[in-house]
Amino acid sequence: MGSPLLLHLLRWKYKAGGRKLRRGGAVSVAGKREDRRRDRQGPRKDGKAKKLKDLMIKSDNKICADCGAPDPKWASATIGVFLCLKCGDVHRALGADISKVLSVTLDDWSDSDIDSMLEVGGNSYANSIYEAFLPRDHPKPKPDSTMEYRTKFIRAKYETQDFLKPSLRISSRSSFKSTTSTKSVDSSFSSTSRKDVSEDTREFVGELNITVVKGTNLAVRDMLTSDPYVVLSLGAQRDQTTVKPSDLNPVWNEVLKISVPRNHGPLKLEVYDHDTFSADDIMGEAEIDLQPMITAVMAFGDTSRLGDMQIGRWFMTKDNALVKDSTVNVVGGKVKQEVHLKLQNVESGELELELEWVPI
Ligand SMILES: [Zn+2]
Repeated sequence: MGSPLLLHLLRWKYKAGGRKLRRGGAVSVAGKREDRRRDRQGPRKDGKAKKLKDLMIKSDNKICADCGAPDPKWASATIGVFLCLKCGDVHRALGADISKVLSVTLDDWSDSDIDSMLEVGGNSYANSIYEAFLPRDHPKPKPDSTMEYRTKFIRAKYETQDFLKPSLRISSRSSFKSTTSTKSVDSSFSSTSRKDVSEDTREFVGELNITVVKGTNLAVRDMLTSDPYVVLSLGAQRDQTTVKPSDLNPVWNEVLKISVPRNHGPLKLEVYDHDTFSADDIMGEAEIDLQPMITAVMAFGDTSRLGDMQIGRWFMTKDNALVKDSTVNVVGGKVKQEVHLKLQNVESGELELELEWVPI
């Protein structure tokens, strides 16, 4: 039951968002067609296998999803996570209906196995769901943890799904009003309202103060210039800056506020050109992965008495919009992260932000 749950959640969530999010290894229509052609012809040379490799090299997938051991060589195709040898063995014992374990180098992956991996997007997305309610007194196993503790944790995480948001747990008869019984979990994703699943507004884990610092070399949308403003959104929440008239290098220094629910996707950023007489034109977009910051916040707990230090990092990869690695730091007791983005799907433009975590 592990995989269908998460896959259905993801599929439903992104559909509800209006368009599918680009995650690691964006799949172009041409690419898909080419894969199909290759499949007919025999073994894949690159195609989908390459997309799986691209996913593997994302920073969150370079450590085991369950115990953090480096360089995982196994994956659960049904759950969508990368695993070390020891955790892979535990997964195998759960049975292939819960976790289908494949070697990332040796086994012959089917198209649907690879599609599942690509759709979940790897460890941080899967963990943001499966570990959303991981209690503080139930630490994850470490690379050298005993098989006994490892097994206990992995069973709780995927088999009984103890750390999942209560309304999604298959084993609970929760007080949640929607149709969350064992059999109707799948259908509930297509019938419940958006708020019920993708964003439980009663379950915020914190808030973000996001300073939109400045834009550089933004795209021209009117005759010679643009009137840019920035929109940030997370699920149904949305906040935006003021419009800077005729400015391709605008300095905003404006603070936008977003609450972060337990189940959250990436923070979306869009830049628009304000147009008085017609619809505003898009001037680029980017996605901000909040997982590195939230993982660091959860790991370090109360940072108010900590000295200045680095506690996390969102790595620049060719799959994300970062101009450079973005570090998560404790500064004066507060958790902050500077993010320098290259706007996507536009001819030019960069944007600088500073995220500050506000515990609730
Ligand atoms: Zn492991």
